[in-house]
Amino acid sequence: MTGSTKYIFVTGGVTSSLGKGIVSASLAKLLQARGFTVTIQKLDPYINIDPGTLNPYEHGECYVTEDGAETDLDLGHYERFLDTPTSQANNVTTGRIYQNVINKERRGEYLGKTVQVIPHITDEIKRHIQALGRKGIYDFVITEVGGTVGDIESLPYVEAIRQLKWEKGRDALAIHLTLLPYLSTSGELKTKPTQHSVKELLSLGVQPDILVCRTEHPMLKGMKEKIALFCNVDQQAVIESADAETIYDVPLLMQQEQLDVVVLEKLGIKNYPEADLGRWRDFLRRFKNPKRTVEIGLVGKYVELRDAYKSIKEALDHGGAEGETRVELRWVHSEKLTAKNVAKQLGGLSGILVAPGFGNRGIEGKIEAVRFARENKVPFLGICLGMQCAVIEFARNVLGHAEANSTEMDPDTKWPVIALMEEQKAKVDKGGTMRLGAYPCKLSEGSHTAQAYGKTQIKERHRHRYEFNNAFAEEFRKAGMIAAGTNPQTKLVEVVEIKDHPWFVGVQYHPEYKSTVARPHPLFTRFVQVAMEHAAVAAAAVAKA
Ligand code: GLN
Repeated sequence: MTGSTKYIFVTGGVTSSLGKGIVSASLAKLLQARGFTVTIQKLDPYINIDPGTLNPYEHGECYVTEDGAETDLDLGHYERFLDTPTSQANNVTTGRIYQNVINKERRGEYLGKTVQVIPHITDEIKRHIQALGRKGIYDFVITEVGGTVGDIESLPYVEAIRQLKWEKGRDALAIHLTLLPYLSTSGELKTKPTQHSVKELLSLGVQPDILVCRTEHPMLKGMKEKIALFCNVDQQAVIESADAETIYDVPLLMQQEQLDVVVLEKLGIKNYPEADLGRWRDFLRRFKNPKRTVEIGLVGKYVELRDAYKSIKEALDHGGAEGETRVELRWVHSEKLTAKNVAKQLGGLSGILVAPGFGNRGIEGKIEAVRFARENKVPFLGICLGMQCAVIEFARNVLGHAEANSTEMDPDTKWPVIALMEEQKAKVDKGGTMRLGAYPCKLSEGSHTAQAYGKTQIKERHRHRYEFNNAFAEEFRKAGMIAAGTNPQTKLVEVVEIKDHPWFVGVQYHPEYKSTVARPHPLFTRFVQVAMEHAAVAAAAVAKA
């Protein structure tokens, strides 16, 4: 619709954590709402090849795409906002850039030249930025650069942006996100850090076209003029980005500030259609005006770190909004959960979700949480390691194999009910070697899961090395835990359910990655719904007593 692909670069200044990902996703949403095709890409200036090997304490959750890329959590926001899939090409790190350049050097592709940051690393960055545009399907490619301008790590990226802006002329623009700090002693917002941050960018040869100013307090009259004057930007290109009640408000706030209009005009696009945000507004209305509240427990070992479970939290919000229900989360630390305190810690919950994870830490607490949910017939959703814990718990407490375990936790267990997948046994490297990305799954007719999806053929994303050990399948089935979903080719168990329970579902895959505002994930929608039903039954029982 735009003729040639337009490139929008988003950098950040003053401090990290300003929400570049949300602003990028919001701009993309606004352009999409006008009928344009948009994709967003994240460039991360660290040396890991991808975030798959990173501890969640570093950058939060690792998000997995359909094609099995382990990526930055911002890609989750992009998908949730746009409802279009991202891929490996949407997240590139310095590590990957260098790896590609070094591989090319080894193949002799540089024909005897000295390989240098400029032009070889910057060319590789430019190639990655344009790879999405070259597909010919996007009107806009928004490229978000992680980190803060001025960091040593981000210098080659800023240089690549400088070159691309020069080469592309009116087909490219730069947005710089800054902070207006508020000094409570004088009751003032300060513009100086923004001026300095823009100077820093200018010293690297990049003149931002648009400034998005994050602020906790409304900007005063005259402030935009001042910033515009000092930073060489048009006054209407100084965008106020106030703190929002929810991230889903940000597209509407950016629309009020006309961020999309400024972008379109600066890129020379005329006669653009009106934005249709009807469905978005409809979601927000249901999300912000719930008819009821339900409390769900999220059991994990990173609960003090909310970003570690970002997609799960968002998927619960989407699923809740679907039924006009607010999901209140009780964050339960699995390491602190014991047989003694479990009833107190999980008491009164209407649903229990046991989170994914790796390694031993907190595992016994997760198993206690499963036991509580199973015995007290509280709706249960176990995801990946959460599902594996459900299997271990059942083996220990129903089948009576007290030492049952996953070979991840105890390689010599006599009851390896969860065991390393065959294909994993020869793997040595840790990075990018798990079973990753989308695989098909066939659900059993009449299972809770099939009912939730409304179909039996599904495709979901994965990130694991261990699996349900099919050698025990018959023993589990006889005792009431069934494989309600399996991979049609490998027979790998994807879903377990307990027959004698109102709603007990464990999934080996990660449904949370596929939930979007436009299409809340049916498993989360159903989980919130059964939690509501459980709450109603519990309330009726209390009233009767
Ligand atoms: N650690 C488990 C495995 O590798 C579960 C992984 C997860 O929860 N993502 O199989």
